[in-house]
Amino acid sequence: MPWCQKPHRVAIRAGKLIDGKSEKPFENALIVIESDRIVSVVAGGSAPAGVDVIDLSKATVLPGFIDTHTHVLLQGDITAEEYDAQLLKESIPYRAILAARNAQIALSHGFTAIRDLETEGAMYADVDVKTAIANGEVPGPRMQVATRAMTPTGMYPLLGYSWELKVPTGVQYVDGTDGARKAVREQAMYGADWIKYYSDRRYHFESDGALHSMVNFTDEEAKAIVDEAHRIGKKVAAHAIGSDGIAAALRAGVDTIEHGDGLTDALMDEMAKRGIYWVPTITVGMYVAPGVKIALGTDAGGFDWKLLNEAKEFEYYVQYGMTPMQAIRTGTSTAAELLGWSDKLGTIEAGKWADIVAVNGDPLKDIKELENVKFVMKGGAAYKNEVR
Ligand SMILES: [Zn+2]
Repeated sequence: MPWCQKPHRVAIRAGKLIDGKSEKPFENALIVIESDRIVSVVAGGSAPAGVDVIDLSKATVLPGFIDTHTHVLLQGDITAEEYDAQLLKESIPYRAILAARNAQIALSHGFTAIRDLETEGAMYADVDVKTAIANGEVPGPRMQVATRAMTPTGMYPLLGYSWELKVPTGVQYVDGTDGARKAVREQAMYGADWIKYYSDRRYHFESDGALHSMVNFTDEEAKAIVDEAHRIGKKVAAHAIGSDGIAAALRAGVDTIEHGDGLTDALMDEMAKRGIYWVPTITVGMYVAPGVKIALGTDAGGFDWKLLNEAKEFEYYVQYGMTPMQAIRTGTSTAAELLGWSDKLGTIEAGKWADIVAVNGDPLKDIKELENVKFVMKGGAAYKNEVR
């Protein structure tokens, strides 16, 4: 693997360390790594004899970033035409090659783990990308994948083509409670870590000032999806933009709300009470609600991977009222919690995987520094080191 050197034991000297859980950064910390794990983190201290030291003494070191909402198989779909063209003109193998490229982009930006939330018509190709990365065949972040996602028949593109043509669909069409359970089992069989469904569509404001939407599944169907997923140990992400779609997803018992633009105070309270995560994807809006667990998610793939750094999401969160430290947590420790990987990722402490990034400046002073990651290590292997 030419892109990765994997020394057995190595230490990182961090000028400033933001560990993902402490309120304040540490100065001059030493992180000792053995194989793919962090074995110790101490302020000051000298490296054990014979251990190579990576000098990041002029840099700020952070846990690897986590994006909990991506689409590696999508290359931007600002218009419906762009979306349709990808499904109609690009083969799934071609899309998988681009996905591997996108995964590499994410890693080079400091994202050492992602949750990829559906393939948009590319069937189970996300499982293949995940496997190739996990096997060390191509560089990329650790992945949890949702495979195909679900709506009822006719409620997701491609739509509007002649009924004489058999066109691909961006999701798996699922109808009825038996159909819902079968689809969950099928997606799990082919490698889904998460089940995703589209709770709503057609968003519109009404006179009450709230953003409303049309709900896709009947309550019985949505509950069957969630119940079956939970029964076999999978968690459920619901795309829910309008207040009606969010309310329906909460009734069904989902684990994460994606987008959530139409969240009302009452819905927010319920999420906080039940510990349901919100993945706002740039639309934090006026809410930085106390109590609701917000995990960073960008919807990368909805925009072109080559044009925009996902770490811009941190900047939006700060613009909407988070402190830089709070924003950093959404994309590190809170995101790790959402993935169920709190014991492995999201903070820099002994026992965790050595997923570590560094930037030249101080992101607590200028959050935009996170868009300029100079050092990336995943599982103890350094993929990038451009620290000056
Ligand atoms: Zn999305």
